Amino acid sequence: MSSELYKLIIQGAESIFGKTSVALKEACGSKGRDQAFEFPDTAYYLPVIYALTGQPVRTLGDMEAALDRARTMLSEIAGRHPGEPTLGDAAEAGIASLFSVELLLALGAMRGQEGKGDSQGFIPDTIMRTLGVQLVDGTIPGIAVLVGAAPDDETAVKTVRELQEKGILTLIAGRGAGSNIAEQLRRSGVEFGWESRIVELGPEAAHAFYAVSWAIRASLIYGGIKPGSMNEHLAFQRERVPAFVIALGAPDAELLALGAGAIAFGFPVISDQDVPTVIAGGVCPNEALVGVTDYDKLVRRAIEVRNLKIVVSKPPVPVPYGPAFEGERVRKENTFLEFGGQRSPAFEWLRTRGVDEIEDNRIVVVGRDWEARLKKGGILPLGILVEVAGRKMQTDFEGVIERKLHSFINEAHGVWHMGQRDIIWTRIGKEADREGFTLEHFGVIYTAMIHNRFGAIVDKVQVTLYLDEEDVLSVRNEARAAYLERDRRLGDLTDESVDTFFSCLLCQSFAPNHVCVISPERLGLCGAYNWLDAKAAFEIDPTGGNQPILKGELLDERYGRYSGIDGYLKKASRDTIETLNMYTIMENPMTSCGCFECVIAIVPEANGIMIVNRGFEGMTPVGMKFSTLAASVGGGVQTPGFMGIGINFITSPKFIRGDGGIRRIVWMTTEIKERIRDAFIKRAGEEGTPDLLEKIADETICEEVEPLMEYLGRVSHPALVMPSLLG
Ligand code: SF4
Ligand code: ZN
Repeated sequence: MSSELYKLIIQGAESIFGKTSVALKEACGSKGRDQAFEFPDTAYYLPVIYALTGQPVRTLGDMEAALDRARTMLSEIAGRHPGEPTLGDAAEAGIASLFSVELLLALGAMRGQEGKGDSQGFIPDTIMRTLGVQLVDGTIPGIAVLVGAAPDDETAVKTVRELQEKGILTLIAGRGAGSNIAEQLRRSGVEFGWESRIVELGPEAAHAFYAVSWAIRASLIYGGIKPGSMNEHLAFQRERVPAFVIALGAPDAELLALGAGAIAFGFPVISDQDVPTVIAGGVCPNEALVGVTDYDKLVRRAIEVRNLKIVVSKPPVPVPYGPAFEGERVRKENTFLEFGGQRSPAFEWLRTRGVDEIEDNRIVVVGRDWEARLKKGGILPLGILVEVAGRKMQTDFEGVIERKLHSFINEAHGVWHMGQRDIIWTRIGKEADREGFTLEHFGVIYTAMIHNRFGAIVDKVQVTLYLDEEDVLSVRNEARAAYLERDRRLGDLTDESVDTFFSCLLCQSFAPNHVCVISPERLGLCGAYNWLDAKAAFEIDPTGGNQPILKGELLDERYGRYSGIDGYLKKASRDTIETLNMYTIMENPMTSCGCFECVIAIVPEANGIMIVNRGFEGMTPVGMKFSTLAASVGGGVQTPGFMGIGINFITSPKFIRGDGGIRRIVWMTTEIKERIRDAFIKRAGEEGTPDLLEKIADETICEEVEPLMEYLGRVSHPALVMPSLLG
């Protein structure tokens, strides 16, 4: 039985190889072997071929060499166990199919046939970096590759909603027109996009390959595994990338061959057909291939087979709920109730109370005729007061929990929230209203989710919602005083004023040696965790990913080196990092995992540094784009002269203080400038260079080093007269 299946797989691999050979010959004939090709925004050429063989494919000629590799593999397989192929043969044929299909898709892209319409096509490096934190912290617990079409639209929607509610990222490929789950979903009005966690890769089964080409970026970017180390890459994928395939409809030989490729990566295939079960010990923890013909059980079985740990926390509200709904908007014309956003006064404020002062899970609405007003819809003022109590609650955690109120509300399907503190703006959509969702459910969500996420520090939660303008204004005054006080306390929090920093080890599930050291004046490089977040996380889970580090003795004041940090790092980085300087990029700087918001690089000619943000696709004065720069700093290693950082670190007084601080910045993108403008101007004033921001070049001024030097000279940039950066 299995041997029949393996034969089919090998046939499929040969068939894909054949198609690719023809397409490649044609392309070489019409364009010549020197014709160059690259996928958009990647530093890894054709990523799967590059990672597994070490060969950078840059031209059609390179493609011929890569295809030869697939040819050799296939002929070896054919000679090994003629007529009686083994599982190992099938897996190798799977890998050969991945090589062939990667070339085939590249050839298609060259002809301009890929990534058309709504589909994503090739997935750029940036997306792996952006989603990295969510993948390592479990917010995205798994990646489903959905191929084919469901028997009907309803089943398609049900399957995808089930994946969405579990937070799973779903990547979709069809099997030609009329057999495409993306079409089924679109007909039913399902929203696509990275934020909704449903992404269409393309209309053909071959497009499912883009999921594999994306997954391999995890071991290249985070794992720091060398291109060409095939076994190490495959081991990383099997152990750390929580992907699986759901194949809908009867598979043909080519799809089976691609499926075998997925299995070689450790991604099990769950089919809705009555297929033979395949076990591949050491590759997939449970079944490698399994048939599940009952659609009600499909997703659940897939999760079991892939061994995903999914903690779903759904508050009792009458709409779907989960992080996959966080990104959706509620448009004006679909709005039923609206609060804040310049249209009415609104705020949210979380404060600590004594255990006896509040009643757990109590939700109070205050306002004249509030029930009738909420039923009518329209624009209303809104004051949200969340009071919490708990023996382990600290006032320092108020801001940490308050910032979460935003996503707690946004995760409700059909409800939208923006901003924080006294600049919130929130909408309840007409659809949510029809499903029975009302403002009181805000209270339900807050109480349930705070207990759920912060149960270790919060024992009681009480929510008051104010709807009368005079109440909103008067409580808002109290809230504003509290925000000010909170900011003052935060401002007093410096690296010197505490004796403990925190580590963040979350990214170790992707970058095994990487450690973020988070201090009051330096947040994690992904931008998602600051010192208070880490402190609260440690209180919540003392054995979790954030651990306290006693600073110990200050060994080097200028560079920020501490004995306690060094001692901790040695252990936590598995002996790969001996010592760390917190405030320089020149010597033993912080390591990078891969999900940094920005990269800093020295510009030796200018005696300064430049900063480029993730998502910026243009050229920079060091002659590298973000994707290339980023590829040289990942994998948990120290790279003097280069470093990944969180964007808000730029305006910290400790930002490369040992190298001269912000006056070293000679170039940074306009996006960064805009995002930190106010704080930067303030910091520049403190440094005695109030007009620094204008003196810093950006992409609208130059993208190369000569015009940069000219510009810096013209504006008398301070870096030009600072001591040499190179020492
Ligand atoms: Fe990863 Fe550092 Fe962010 Fe933690 S703080 S999630 S280790 S990048
Ligand atoms: Zn990271």
